Amino acid sequence: MNCSIVVPIYNEERSLPELFERLHGALSKLSGQYEIIAVNDGSRDNSQAVLADLASANSNVRVLNFSRNFGQTAAIDAGIRHAKHDIVIPIDADLENDPADIPRLMAKMGEGFDVVSGYRKDRWQGNWLSRKLPSLMANKLISWLSGVQLSDFGCTLKAYRREVVENLRLYGDMHRFIPAYASWNFNARITEIPVSHTPRKHGKSNYGLGRIWKVVLDLLVLKFFADYSRRPIHLFGSMGSISILLGLVAGVLSIYFKFSVAYHKDFIQTPLPVLMAMLIVVGVILIMMGLLAEILIRTYFENHNQESYQIKEKINF
Ligand code: UDP
Ligand code: MG
Repeated sequence: MNCSIVVPIYNEERSLPELFERLHGALSKLSGQYEIIAVNDGSRDNSQAVLADLASANSNVRVLNFSRNFGQTAAIDAGIRHAKHDIVIPIDADLENDPADIPRLMAKMGEGFDVVSGYRKDRWQGNWLSRKLPSLMANKLISWLSGVQLSDFGCTLKAYRREVVENLRLYGDMHRFIPAYASWNFNARITEIPVSHTPRKHGKSNYGLGRIWKVVLDLLVLKFFADYSRRPIHLFGSMGSISILLGLVAGVLSIYFKFSVAYHKDFIQTPLPVLMAMLIVVGVILIMMGLLAEILIRTYFENHNQESYQIKEKINF
């Protein structure tokens, strides 16, 4: 089995020499071929020059220099698109992930999995309340929303069969959801193994705790696209219908109160008529938004020559 390693890099000049030394060390022990695709995401330090040196010293190192900083997701996306081997493994450049775990990921892939997810088992020890708990909850939430049970979506070090990732388009911070994507689009076989984790030695993290909320929002977008992007009216239409239905119930109730002898209440004595008007207006607007979304999605698929399906395999074509 051959593998392509993808390294997103933003201002990591001080980690790069050790990282590449350890990568070559771990990868040269494997039986197959390898390449290391270093994606320099518009670093402002000396990373570009360091990478140029590393590439001239070893032809397995290939470098993509971005014109400016586009973010970790874009860097991983570019790396995956340029990968030539069957297994693609992204890894952080800051030495938080250990290259020595790569052979274990490869071995697990050899058992026939499409995705082997690393999880940083021993992370945040001694920091239970402020870091471990939020991360635990975020991962539970993502597992629940995505239907893919993983303990550590945030760990970059994961192995993918190229087939299940090469047609992805990744936006925002969505590199964390590649396993979810693979599962939705390919029924991918997914498993996880613990990987080691060392806190960053040089420089500092590019993210703070605020990312958890952004990650959840990204996931909502992704879930919407996975389930409804081809039929948005199903989502907007059902929400709109429910709203109209509730509005009608409020209306009927208000009429009942008006004419009931035992529970008599005039229209202005309850919020029900206002509720009725509001729910029905919201419902109608939702349904119209669904129709608009249908128009948008059609122009999208037609303009981009996108199919509304993906073929996994063709035989005798
Ligand atoms: N990274 C990148 N572009 C960015 C931010 C980060 O390529 O805009 C890279 C960074 O160099 C590192 C990896 O993404 O290799 C993970 O970033 P970081 O260590 O800051 O995140 P954390 O480990 O805190 O999740
Ligand atoms: Mg890091």
